[in-house]
Amino acid sequence: MTSAALLPLRWRTATVIARRPETPHVATLVLDVPGWPGHKAGQHVDLRLTAADGYEAQRSYSIASANDGTAVAITVERVADGEVSPFLLDDVRVSDDLELRGPIGGYFVWSLEDGNPLLLIAGGSGVAPMMSILRARAQALKPPAARLLYSSRDQASIIYRDELDGMTAATDGPRILYTLTRERPVVWSGALGRVDRVMLERIGFPPTDDPLAYVCGPTPFVEQVAADLVALGYAEERIRTERFGPTGAN
Ligand SMILES: Cc1cc2nc3c(=O)[nH]c(=O)nc-3n(C[C@H](O)[C@H](O)[C@H](O)COP(=O)(O)OP(=O)(O)OC[C@H]3O[C@@H](n4cnc5c(N)ncnc54)[C@H](O)[C@@H]3O)c2cc1C
Repeated sequence: MTSAALLPLRWRTATVIARRPETPHVATLVLDVPGWPGHKAGQHVDLRLTAADGYEAQRSYSIASANDGTAVAITVERVADGEVSPFLLDDVRVSDDLELRGPIGGYFVWSLEDGNPLLLIAGGSGVAPMMSILRARAQALKPPAARLLYSSRDQASIIYRDELDGMTAATDGPRILYTLTRERPVVWSGALGRVDRVMLERIGFPPTDDPLAYVCGPTPFVEQVAADLVALGYAEERIRTERFGPTGAN
């Protein structure tokens, strides 16, 4: 580890350069971060908001974009009674400045050298770091096989649907299985209900292929899926998890 890596991350000023609605409750903010050192797929940033009276609130957001110069995309889901997410969705406009530090995280990360079949399992906005991984993977000449199992409440809540379907259609694209927990469409080729072992077997790789699994979403979702993967024979050290619980820092 270099001495630079041991230095505390400094807060930077980031400018919102684009804002994209993804679903009725989710939007992506693309930030320009001058001096951005680059990031690995799966890392996150901290955002800090400061009110006029000096009150500060700080929250973590996964980076959804692949490493791309000084542009960093985050995808924010509304927590109805939340302090920060409604502000980011309702009040932040293109050309506004935000305070940000990162990239953060050395465990829930993927780079091409990690190789291996990739099994990605996401619940709700937990798909954000998976998108970073899939976007980074899409840039590779010889990407490893990848599969995504993505749980949403209903079809309208599927984030990045068009881009994900476009990736699936591409040569070497990932295989994707969507599952819906609160809607039963008349016509639907995906799964229905919460992620379970049957779904994991349907989309996953045999444990003998030594897959690398990434699981991200609400804490109970992550814990259940990780336990199911272990029960199916996945090696614990090959399962990387990220929990989107409350960040807890004001
Ligand atoms: C490493 C990491 C990465 C994250 N990445 C993302 C991301 O890419 N996109 C994203 O939208 N969020 C992400 N989160 C969650 C994010 O940091 C905030 O917790 C979330 O936006 C809610 O903040 P808030 O201020 O709106 O709500 P708060 O004011 O913090 O909470 C309001 C109420 O909602 C509950 N609550 C807080 N967070 C959640 C939640 N996530 N789900 C359900 N209930 C909650 C609280 O317990 C409280 O009761 C990430 C969290 C972590 C730790």
